[in-house]
Amino acid sequence: MSKSHHTDRGFKNNYAASVNKSLPEVLRWQWNRMRRHLPPDPQLPTPTQVPELEFLHVNARAGASMMPTVTWIGHATSLIQADGLNVLTDPIFSARASPLQWLGPRRAQPPGVTLHALPRIDVVVVSHNHYDHLDRGSIQALARQPGGEPLFLVPLGLRRWMTRAGIRRAVELDWWERHDHAGVEFHLTPAQHWSARSLTDRNKTLWGAWSVLGVDCHWFFSGDTGYSADFSDTRQRFAAQQAAGHGGGFDVALIAVGACEPRWFMQGQHVDPAEAVRIHVDLGAKHSVGVHWGTFALADEPLDHPLHVIATARAQHGVAADAFTLMALGETRRVPRRLPSSCCGSIPR
Ligand code: ZN
Ligand code: ZN
Repeated sequence: MSKSHHTDRGFKNNYAASVNKSLPEVLRWQWNRMRRHLPPDPQLPTPTQVPELEFLHVNARAGASMMPTVTWIGHATSLIQADGLNVLTDPIFSARASPLQWLGPRRAQPPGVTLHALPRIDVVVVSHNHYDHLDRGSIQALARQPGGEPLFLVPLGLRRWMTRAGIRRAVELDWWERHDHAGVEFHLTPAQHWSARSLTDRNKTLWGAWSVLGVDCHWFFSGDTGYSADFSDTRQRFAAQQAAGHGGGFDVALIAVGACEPRWFMQGQHVDPAEAVRIHVDLGAKHSVGVHWGTFALADEPLDHPLHVIATARAQHGVAADAFTLMALGETRRVPRRLPSSCCGSIPR
């Protein structure tokens, strides 16, 4: 494995020298934001649906007959049910994405499913340590769930944070490393971003995307990322397992679409909806869902920005309307099962 992303000064990206902004750039962004009263208020509320709790709980215990589903809970938090496992991505249920619960970005919409209404979670995947993705209160509450702690899968360097937070079942992975759990492969794959929770720990822990390969479903979660060739690399990596005869590419990809303005500041670290659609194309995913929007106003675009631009973004890349969609908070999508690999090898030609 290439370790070129390991340096003496922390981790770095594969395709960008640095996505970190200088202090004057941060100040320039903040000054403009204040002066121009950004972000503007959204014109539309983030759509919301009553969650299908009964279905989710029955499906949660269905074992091998579990129907693959995706439920958007808010921001980058989703529940994925597939291959007998209930998996949460970057869980944040708190009122603010901040080290302090009285200061910092406040959530505009309650979670689509509350923490206590969730089925028992088997695995939590964390993409990086920013406060809107790694929320101490949510992690500790999940660790106390009835039935025992979930398994926490985290990028390199974050096991220490987990241990300090009282978590016992945490496994950390480097890019392209894999951890198997209950017959499902969890791969940490590269993304273009950065990490920090304080002024002194910049890029000291790794960030990444998750590529999860089971029998019934292959799914992908981008975490936070700028646009890069990391996603065509990821497609290449799994080309054999995702060949047409093995069910094809990712059945569903969860790709960040929000916190993208102004582009001069955000482009390296956060894709906009058009670049998110390009990642969907690069991955060769069958279907993608835009996440990381509608919940915390972290950047200069209004919270409803993806709702207004997603159709243009799809058109720009020739992607069909049902191939890259946005979901309502609390909504559950059923994902068609992959064809068993044995089914296709024996088809007479
Ligand atoms: Zn981030
Ligand atoms: Zn984020």
